[in-house]
Amino acid sequence: MPTHLVWFRNDLRTIDNRALHAACEDPAARVLALFIATPGQWAAHSMAPRQASFIHQTLQHLQAALAAKNIELCYHQCDDFAAANAWLVAFCREQQVGTLFYNRQYELNEQQRDAALEQQLAGQVVCRAFDDSLLLPPGSVTTGNGEMYKVYTPFRNAFLRRLTAADTRSLPAPRPREQGDVPRHPLAPFDYPQQAVDEAQFPAGEEAALARLRAFCREQAPDYLRQRDQPALSGTSQISPYLAIGALSPRQCFNRLQAECPRMLEQRDGGAFGWLNELLWREFYRHLLVAWPMLCKHQPFIRWTRFVPWHTPDEAFEAWKQGRTGYPIVDAAMRQMNQTGWMHNRLRMITASYLVKDLRIDWREGERYFMTQLLDGDYAANNGGWQWAASTGTDATPYFRIFNPTTQGERYDKQGDFIRRWVPELAEVPESAIHQPHRWAREQQRVLDYPAPQVDHATARRETLEAFEDARRHA
Ligand code: FAD
Repeated sequence: MPTHLVWFRNDLRTIDNRALHAACEDPAARVLALFIATPGQWAAHSMAPRQASFIHQTLQHLQAALAAKNIELCYHQCDDFAAANAWLVAFCREQQVGTLFYNRQYELNEQQRDAALEQQLAGQVVCRAFDDSLLLPPGSVTTGNGEMYKVYTPFRNAFLRRLTAADTRSLPAPRPREQGDVPRHPLAPFDYPQQAVDEAQFPAGEEAALARLRAFCREQAPDYLRQRDQPALSGTSQISPYLAIGALSPRQCFNRLQAECPRMLEQRDGGAFGWLNELLWREFYRHLLVAWPMLCKHQPFIRWTRFVPWHTPDEAFEAWKQGRTGYPIVDAAMRQMNQTGWMHNRLRMITASYLVKDLRIDWREGERYFMTQLLDGDYAANNGGWQWAASTGTDATPYFRIFNPTTQGERYDKQGDFIRRWVPELAEVPESAIHQPHRWAREQQRVLDYPAPQVDHATARRETLEAFEDARRHA
């Protein structure tokens, strides 16, 4: 009887999992599943402890779902990728594994790990890798010259042309196998800092992820464009933590959206298409990563921006992290992320822009800090978002477009409901003053336990423009 091993990485689900599905096609095979935790690697990449906790919770659901199919989830912890590969080679020998199945990861380190493993297993184990975490694989959406697009809109248009012809069906979970009951050993905690995840907000597991997806597509997707920029509302799906660890697949998102909104591809000004558009930004950033691996090394896409003279991260950076900059929308957003691990997209843009353009701190500092906090930390999306806000990325906001944190707050949280939820010190500040509470406090001769703005936006804006222009001239 051949033994098939499915190595789960960031695809922690049983439904629509291409590697798992392929491994289960042969009814005569013995199928084993495996997860290897690599805390040393996670620490090197600043993975948020709460994301590790979320993975651990999700693994427990995965273990139960696999056990219901009579598939055992084996589990191992070691420091890094090299140790994981060495252990895996020995495990394959011990278990007489004939074929290893896995879904590809596209970050450079992960690709190098897999290439090394295939070499180590050559002649012993057949490796079958699948493109699973995107609607269309990297390298499949290119310009007439066969190159990756640098601009999103033409990428999206080409993507949509290919998408309609591609096989995007979701695969079912495998049927229970005739291989008897399997043991379910408790999964030892990760040797990694612990941080609780709010299970009411983000219940773990693929069932919870699917329930959220269904509810969103049915009830909220049609209104997405009207609500998506209002952080005080729950107008977005909040499925990013599930997509980031693969508890949900983008095909499941696309298919569910189409089932609920069958005319979405024709109605391009509708909410459902608007939401699909966001899923395609996710695709864009991953395709970019594969086309330009230097992005995996935190290099700016626009070379001359390397010469921008960044300020050393100091107490202003610490205040940004803690949500004490004196700009209420920035502070509310940072506190939302610090407390829950999730931040609204509009606010990610505002807080990132503020760090880079108002404090002129290197975007990589912010990128790293976000990773330490986010439940949905995802290298490609985070790097793409930061390079967009910092004007260092391809198809990024131009360097001379600088968000004003006060007017951004006025526009997207007019009444200050979101601000008051996260910055309780401002509870009594009236609506008319909520975006500039220090002025109100001065006029009313009140003392607020809240700082005055740490920088004057107009001055910071002018200096940042000069710094970018100098860098461009001298490059
Ligand atoms: P929805 O609005 O419901 O969108 C659906 C899905 O589309 C999201 O779950 C996500 O997978 C994808 N998506 C939406 N917007 C984007 C985008 N701009 N770029 C790429 N994919 C997108 N997203 C992450 O998943 N992980 C990150 O680490 C991350 N870091 C970011 C950092 C910055 C500075 C910025 C500006 C954006 C970042 N994003 C990141 C993108 C985006 O903010 C989140 O995906 C989104 O807020 C998640 O909420 P949601 O699931 O409710 O999104």
